[in-house]
Amino acid sequence: MSPRLFRHPHGITAVDTEYLHPGHAAAHIIQDAGRAAFVDVGTNYSVPYLLAALEALGIGREAVDYIFLTHVHLDHTGGAGRLVQELPNARAILHPRGAPHMIDPEKLIAGSKVVYGEERFAKLYGELVPIPAERVRLVQDGERYRLGGRELELIHTPGHALHHYAVVDAAHASIFPGDTFGISYREMDSARGAFITPTTTPTQFDPDQLVASIDRMAAYAPEAMYLMHFSRVTGVPRLAAALKTQIGELVRIAQRHADAQDPYAAIRADMLALWLRLAHEHDAPLSDAQIAKLLQGDLDLNTQGLIVWLDRRKRS
Ligand SMILES: [Zn+2]
Repeated sequence: MSPRLFRHPHGITAVDTEYLHPGHAAAHIIQDAGRAAFVDVGTNYSVPYLLAALEALGIGREAVDYIFLTHVHLDHTGGAGRLVQELPNARAILHPRGAPHMIDPEKLIAGSKVVYGEERFAKLYGELVPIPAERVRLVQDGERYRLGGRELELIHTPGHALHHYAVVDAAHASIFPGDTFGISYREMDSARGAFITPTTTPTQFDPDQLVASIDRMAAYAPEAMYLMHFSRVTGVPRLAAALKTQIGELVRIAQRHADAQDPYAAIRADMLALWLRLAHEHDAPLSDAQIAKLLQGDLDLNTQGLIVWLDRRKRS
């Protein structure tokens, strides 16, 4: 079991969670003065890689104080219950709206099976282990946690999910935004830097909240964002502007096809066209076919999320 590790400044290491394919999802380990924390963890199948990463970094299992779970989408948290069993001193840190779903995951499992189907769910996530309530702490907006010698501020960041928070390491100009600051695959890097896209995953995407959360995080003027998909990006002001522009465009695409015969196909096609145009402008070093393949899962999830958002607006 050899984990793919990416060493970053300030005691931060990314671990590839080996979800879907290499380079898709990264859990992060923060080390400070002999103590450690995870930010997001991946699925049950990621746990052996995370434990191997601790070993490779010389971190004892008892030295892990926190498992910060930015939100309860299963690619971020599916392995948390099992990981808690391996880390005797770790507390799982959750948004008050997300915590009940990790303590009693029945509803979360049912909801995810709607998105992924029974068979694919089992293959992606396996058997979810509940986190015992006494191992969970709830995060209030602006709450501060001490890890070794550093202070981490946790801020509520709705938009991708209502129960989402971000971990701000202000002293090191670093933020761990979960999925609130989009996704950025390293394969798309060019001389212009990172290519980024927002994620409008079901079922709680809200464009106004997402823009407000991006602005709130960017206001810290961080040097780097550590995304789940995929790890460190810099040049935050440019990326924040790109995300906000694209959120507007995705909303317009969704609205344009709201009454279409087959909104799914129409929205997905327009989103792919938008991303290919932006990738060309970015000089991304991939062919159109490679880009479509790399982004196919995100096209599907984003399209589903936009349709759920349209339905929610129709009902309200
Ligand atoms: Zn998510």
